[in-house]
Amino acid sequence: MDIQELKRRLPLPQLLLQLGLFDFFPQEGLYKCPLHKEQCGESFSLSLKGDAWLWNCFGACRAGGDEISLIEKSQGLTRRAAILRFHELLSETPKVRLSESLELQPKPAPDRRSVLFPSDLREGTRLELECLARLRRVDFWAVAAMQQLGVLKFGTVRGCLCWIVMDASRRCAEARRLDGLEFSNGAKVHTLLGSDKSWAVGVQLFAGLTRAFTRVLLVEGSGDLVAAFHWAHRFSNDCQPVAMLGAGLKRIHPDALEQLRGKSVRIVPHDDPAGRGAVEAWRTQLQSVGCTVYAFWMTNIQKADGSRGKDLNDTTDCGPETARKMEALFLWR
Ligand SMILES: [Zn+2]
Repeated sequence: MDIQELKRRLPLPQLLLQLGLFDFFPQEGLYKCPLHKEQCGESFSLSLKGDAWLWNCFGACRAGGDEISLIEKSQGLTRRAAILRFHELLSETPKVRLSESLELQPKPAPDRRSVLFPSDLREGTRLELECLARLRRVDFWAVAAMQQLGVLKFGTVRGCLCWIVMDASRRCAEARRLDGLEFSNGAKVHTLLGSDKSWAVGVQLFAGLTRAFTRVLLVEGSGDLVAAFHWAHRFSNDCQPVAMLGAGLKRIHPDALEQLRGKSVRIVPHDDPAGRGAVEAWRTQLQSVGCTVYAFWMTNIQKADGSRGKDLNDTTDCGPETARKMEALFLWR
């Protein structure tokens, strides 16, 4: 494994945690230097340049560098020994305890591409769930429910702490930064390598829970998926939110369609040409597996700033009047 790959698998923030130098998951910023046991002041900076993490102590250490130089400096090793140690640390990466929702899943069939999940894929802490609820302006319970159903995980992607939507099938996963910022390439979302984007995320819940839902709310994108959970949690107990991760994805995977067989599906598209095109394509396929299909258009939705909303995501920060309108979203059988 080359050094770039090592760094990708065990980036600096995670390394600091694993070496016991930090007892929390740091992001870019200034911290007390763990190398010279700084008491007051914050001389230790952590920054992300492109894909590369860098550390620097402007205080007593007057040193800095990458993951390897951190191992050198903190363990008193030569560079060569530090690289060996880096390899060892990667194999020692604690197997983060995953919930049943992941452990109970059968291994994917060998003919299937498997998604490259971050090595630290895990359940979110209470604090992380709260951060996400605040970021997306949704009820805490909505994100907690997503986690419970195996639709939401957390982990480090492109060096950043991310929330990740996926489901028990593990066929498709999309990551977004928990701090709400863009990735270094300017993108808001990052589809994990190996994902099959024809999979409707959220379709396969763990422990056979999929069968507990008779109705399905089909939305577009991970942001709308969170919003769908927010409203479904408030207004329905039999409605399962699922998402295609883009209106351009016209084909729904046959195995995903099979999971939806015979259900009553309400599509909530974005009110734009791509969204309108997607509704027609998705409707035909859903009807072919015995679904009844309705569309719900987001008309007359006003955002909190008075402008016109066009997707589900725009509804969560609106006032009580919008909340009453959203109740209508669930008035179908
Ligand atoms: Zn220092």
